[in-house]
Amino acid sequence: MLKLFQRIACCNNKPKRFRLRQNTSGGGFDQMHILIVGAGLSGAVIGRALAQAGHHITIQEARTHVAGNCHTERCADTGIMVHAYGPHIFHTDDAEVWEYVNSFARFHSFRNRVKTTVNDLVYALPINLHTINQFFGRRFRPDEARRFIAEEQADQSITDPQNFEEQALHMVGPALYEAFFKGYTEKQWGRAPADLPAAILKRLPLRFNYDDNYYAHRFQGLPEDGYTAMVAAILDHPGIDLHLNSPFSPEQAARADHLFWSGPLDAYFGQRHGPLGYRTLDFERFTATGDWQGCAVMNYGDPELPYTRITEHKHFSPWENHAQTVCYREYARACGPGDIPYYPIRLAREKELLSQYEALAAREAGVTFIGRLGTYRYIDMDVTIREALDSAAAFLTATQARHRRQI
Ligand code: UDP
Repeated sequence: MLKLFQRIACCNNKPKRFRLRQNTSGGGFDQMHILIVGAGLSGAVIGRALAQAGHHITIQEARTHVAGNCHTERCADTGIMVHAYGPHIFHTDDAEVWEYVNSFARFHSFRNRVKTTVNDLVYALPINLHTINQFFGRRFRPDEARRFIAEEQADQSITDPQNFEEQALHMVGPALYEAFFKGYTEKQWGRAPADLPAAILKRLPLRFNYDDNYYAHRFQGLPEDGYTAMVAAILDHPGIDLHLNSPFSPEQAARADHLFWSGPLDAYFGQRHGPLGYRTLDFERFTATGDWQGCAVMNYGDPELPYTRITEHKHFSPWENHAQTVCYREYARACGPGDIPYYPIRLAREKELLSQYEALAAREAGVTFIGRLGTYRYIDMDVTIREALDSAAAFLTATQARHRRQI
């Protein structure tokens, strides 16, 4: 069988090589055998797109379920749909991605109205006019609050924030920073906020009205039967062979025409330059009767409390009725060997390591590194799907162009 090589752009715009199996039947299509490691969003979306194009897809998933860290499962005792790896709310401005997920699951509109407990008081997040008025004991109108924060709170000496702390002081000033961001962030990241990138805080809006929707995106919702059912539907295609509980083996990769790798980037290379740093999470589960906290997510900014937030899962399914309730207290810590990686820590040391792994990845023929772990980025579900769709499209365009050149 003739094997050819082609270069394509992968999701991080690094060129990748892959082998193309020439069609010997004389037809207009070259079927490839593609191996995908990981049945999370990236692997499922790419697998589906390539299977629909006629390629044969094998997916190896080390866990016993699909959907990666957005996996959901019904609690056996209460029947409540639980976000097993912490809260995941789908939100996007990308109409095509929204249409895509809606074609595989029935979505219910959902607004995440996060609260935070600080110094024994409960406030609304993201910081909005209600938070500001409650915190400072005032009754500002929007323009008054904007002026108050800009002129009396924000640190005007910071013009170009270089880190999380400077970004917060520049945006809201020391009082709000200390209450809402400092303690939470130290617990979440295990680092001083002055050592963290400003980009982390840029995820959160600051509002001078009473809008307490955590996200600003046009489309927001949750799948009725959970993310795992949605990902299973994406994977439900005759061209896809899915193997759960099946770690990747290099021999398999050698037999495939191309590999899409959604596992940790450093793990692919046996961590030969050292491990990339992640934060992992521990969940302390507890149950109660009725409504335990009255909302889906309650953050805890006080540094004395060891946990960052409590998720009460049934509030993610307001269309269901449950007499019982299931909550997860969430603790963040450094990710060690054998732990599940959640948040990539992109500090100076990691960025240096990352560039070494990216250099290795760029030289790795026939492999495309995809998704949050494969590209070592803190990305939301919609971005993951967008990049997976683009990556699959780039791959198909390149294989088709190659095929046309051969005939
Ligand atoms: N953050 C904070 N206080 C909060 C919530 C968030 O300081 O009450 C900071 C924290 O550093 C966090 C970042 O803002 O990592 C982004 O928050 P987001 O809610 O987007 O985090 P995720 O839900 O992805 O864990």
